[in-house]
Amino acid sequence: MSVSHTDAGKILVAEDSLVIRTVVCDQLQDEGYEIVEAVDGESALRLCSAERPDAILLDIEMPGLDGHEVLVQLKADDELSSIPVVFLTGRTGTDDMVAGLRAGAHDYLRKPFEPAELLARVGGAVRIKRLQDELQLRNEQLDKLSRVDGLTGLHNRRHMDEQLEKELSTGVRHGQPLAVLLLDIDRFKLVNDVEGHPAGDRVLQEFAARVLSVVRVGDVVGRWGGEEFVVIAPHTDRPGALRLAERIRAAVADETMDVGDHRIPVTVSIGCVVGLGPAAGLLADADAALYRSKDEGRNRVTAA
Ligand SMILES: [Mg+2]
Repeated sequence: MSVSHTDAGKILVAEDSLVIRTVVCDQLQDEGYEIVEAVDGESALRLCSAERPDAILLDIEMPGLDGHEVLVQLKADDELSSIPVVFLTGRTGTDDMVAGLRAGAHDYLRKPFEPAELLARVGGAVRIKRLQDELQLRNEQLDKLSRVDGLTGLHNRRHMDEQLEKELSTGVRHGQPLAVLLLDIDRFKLVNDVEGHPAGDRVLQEFAARVLSVVRVGDVVGRWGGEEFVVIAPHTDRPGALRLAERIRAAVADETMDVGDHRIPVTVSIGCVVGLGPAAGLLADADAALYRSKDEGRNRVTAA
C-alpha cells in the first residue's frame, strides 16, 4: 500500500438530485478533487468498491437504498469501513443527523450549504482518511519488523508460535499431520568463546542461509532463540520429516563455515516430531528428541 499526498483526493458524490450533484461536483472539481458520481445508493456502493475514494458525500434521501442503508453496508465491509462518510441532508431536524453520526458517519452537511462549508467538511474527511492510511501503513511495517529476527532475517519466535498454531488448525481441518523440527547448533558457546561473538554471528547467519537453501516451498523457518532454530513443515509424514532433517544436517556439516580469516566445522543436532497435537506437546516432544541427538553424540537427527 502506498500513501500519496500529492493529489487533493478522490471524492465519491452520491446524490440523486442532478442539480445538487452538479453544483457539488463543480465546486469540488474546482478545488482539484477527482470526482466519482453516483445517482443512487446501489451505484454508490458499487463505485465505492471499484474506485476506493478518500471520502464519500452521501445524500440521505435517495430512492432505493437510502444514505443510512448505504452507511450500514459500508461499515460492515472491512475494505470500505475506514472511508469517511459526510452525510448530505435536506431535513431540518437533528434526529437524522444524530442517527447518522451514531452509525459511524464522519460528518454531515445540511442543504443548502455554502461552498466554503462543503470544502471544509470534505477537506476534513480527506485529512482523516490520509492519517488513517498512514497509521495503517506504519502499523503494518511495525508488525512486520516485530516478526523478524534482526541478525538472520528469519522469522522470530513470536511469529513462529503464531504460525505453528495456524498450521496446526489447518492440519486438523485437512487431516494432514505436520512436522516440527528443532535445530540446535552443536557446541555453539565454544564458537563464541574461542572465535569471538562476531564470528558467532556469522555462523548463525550462514547456518540460517543453509537451512533456507534446503527446505521446501511451504516450510517455515524461524530462529527460536540463541543458537536454536525451528522448522515447521506442513503436510509432512515421518519419513518426509526425517529426509528434510537429514538434508539440513548435511547442508550444515558437509562444508566448513567462514568466520573471517579461517573456516571452522559446524554441526547441528535435530529433533523432529510429526503430529497434530497441541503445540506445547509437539514442541516438548521435539525438544526431547533433540536432546537425545545431543546425548548420542550430536550432528544427528532423532525422531520423537
Ligand atoms: Mg436526495
